[in-house]
Amino acid sequence: MTSSIPPAELIERKRNGEELPAGELAELILGYARGEVPDYQLAAFCMAVYFRGLSPAETYALTDAMIRSGTTLDLSTALGRKVVDKHSTGGVGDKTSIAVGPIVAACGVPVGKMSGRGLGHTGGTLDKLEAIPGFDVSLSTERFVAQIREVGLAIVGQTEDLVPADKQLYGLRDVTATVDIVSLIASSIMSKKIAGGADAIVLDVKVGDGAFMKNLEDARVLAEAMLELGRRAGREVVCLLTDMDQPLGAAVGNALEIAEARDTVRGEGPPDFTELVLDACARMLALSDLGVDVDSGRRRAEAAVADGSALALYERWIRAQGGDPDPAALPSAAVVREVRAPTGGHVTRLGAIDVGHAALHLGAGRRAKGDEIDHSVGVVCRAKRGAEVAAGDVLAEVHARTEEDAERASAEVLAAYDLGAERPPDRPLLLDVVA
Ligand code: URA
Repeated sequence: MTSSIPPAELIERKRNGEELPAGELAELILGYARGEVPDYQLAAFCMAVYFRGLSPAETYALTDAMIRSGTTLDLSTALGRKVVDKHSTGGVGDKTSIAVGPIVAACGVPVGKMSGRGLGHTGGTLDKLEAIPGFDVSLSTERFVAQIREVGLAIVGQTEDLVPADKQLYGLRDVTATVDIVSLIASSIMSKKIAGGADAIVLDVKVGDGAFMKNLEDARVLAEAMLELGRRAGREVVCLLTDMDQPLGAAVGNALEIAEARDTVRGEGPPDFTELVLDACARMLALSDLGVDVDSGRRRAEAAVADGSALALYERWIRAQGGDPDPAALPSAAVVREVRAPTGGHVTRLGAIDVGHAALHLGAGRRAKGDEIDHSVGVVCRAKRGAEVAAGDVLAEVHARTEEDAERASAEVLAAYDLGAERPPDRPLLLDVVA
């Protein structure tokens, strides 16, 4: 069946600023998902949306059509429990889900998460998990549900038939300069979260030079758009707006981030990352069926870390998906080079995007879809913004395949640092909560 309204007409009406009826938008998106509307027309439509925007009703119609392009999961019915999910809009060094999952599960709340791969300078949870030897991210839906029931936690790749329209559309947006549009980001993220079956969702909206949203105002608009989609779909949503001007934690790179997430689960993580992880856990527990508030959720999360139950759950989870939880089993890079401070002073800037690019050039990420990644390489930022260093102190470590790669990445990492005489003003990691 072809679309009854010619796509060119819808493109023209959107270009002229018209609000499109839900049914017509759905026809366009479902026609695209069926391969009846070509990429070039959807590309033109996305560009019209870039300049004209979508109303809340249109954004919901788009999200709903994307969900209807594939199958959906009903985890609450399958598990007989309220299911809480967490999602980040993407940043540098963001291994939050890998630490949050086992802590929340150790508190007795089941976590089933579908994650994505990284593209560009932002890393993806699946790529990080694949740094663990043997770890399988492609479980069948039956195994996914069974593992959540038996272990309390499963993190897998999105199945092919979950929101296929988003897969097509995201790939198209990526090459037509139409990624950074609030309504399209909101519908892309929320369609996957709603189709994935969560009743309540904690969204971590990254703000800063290493994120899609460069400033707090834009991040608030995105958070509100996602909250509204959640409301219309009958899901509870809480958005944390968090800093992504500098990398999160110290490690950037797949195996290095797994080691840091594991350290955090056993209470030995970097302070900024630990703070975000515990906060996200507290919010998830407060949305769960445990009937606790954020403060007591936080205390439960801290206790699960302190008494070792979170680490035990981490190990059980990794084994259940075929992986070896021993950090010594993680791949390590052939060359490790220290980057030292040329002068003394305070770190006034540590650019997330610069460190992300250095890690990408080392081979930790993909420049194009389908590129192989090297799980062993990356950057460890030993000094973060505000730290005081003397000339010659270690700022960071570069983990590289070759001396030449290490040489080039060291220069890139050094350029990510600004050192000054004055300590910069503190910038909290958690910038705001929108609920
Ligand atoms: N993450 C998504 O899943 N979709 C977007 O559009 C942006 C970030």
